[in-house]
Amino acid sequence: MTKYEALHKLKDKMEKDDSLPLKKGATKLVFGIGNTEAKILCVGEGPGRTEDQQGLPFVGQAGKLLDKLLLLAGLERKKVFITNVVHHRPPENRDPLPGEIEAYGKYLDQIIAIIKPKVIITLGRFSMAKFLPNVFISGVHGKKFEVGRFIVIPMYHPAASLRNGNILREEQKDFLQLKDILSTIKL
Ligand code: URA
Repeated sequence: MTKYEALHKLKDKMEKDDSLPLKKGATKLVFGIGNTEAKILCVGEGPGRTEDQQGLPFVGQAGKLLDKLLLLAGLERKKVFITNVVHHRPPENRDPLPGEIEAYGKYLDQIIAIIKPKVIITLGRFSMAKFLPNVFISGVHGKKFEVGRFIVIPMYHPAASLRNGNILREEQKDFLQLKDILSTIKL
């Protein structure tokens, strides 16, 4: 089975899983999108309103910024795969709860196992905490960490940059530096 087929099978399974805690309040499952052969996986937090309507990750304002940030690193959206920590929209865009992160986490783990990325770019503190617990994003953003088989690079969430110009400038620097970091990694 190709990675593309395996991901489709997993998406079908997830769509039928009524035990997923945020399913009831959501419009669509936001499984993920991108290059199924990607060596770079981006993991965000959870769908917002636009993503919930379209069933696609990072298609709203934060997504537009993410596209620009990726370009600073020499990456196009079609070169990476993008998913989230939770795959249904939390009500009123609230933060995902620990039990929700755990429930969707078993699917995120399978997405990671199928894609087998070399580099994982986390967007925001919830996806960072999956790989780098007990750190503060303000202290580690833009840096490279080896976590098991992966190189994890925690980034601020683009939505935080939309709210705060100082974070935006930091994040732009981080993505520019990401270009240098990626040039040292055999992908
Ligand atoms: N924010 C996220 O974390 N994920 C999305 O898919 C959209 C916005």
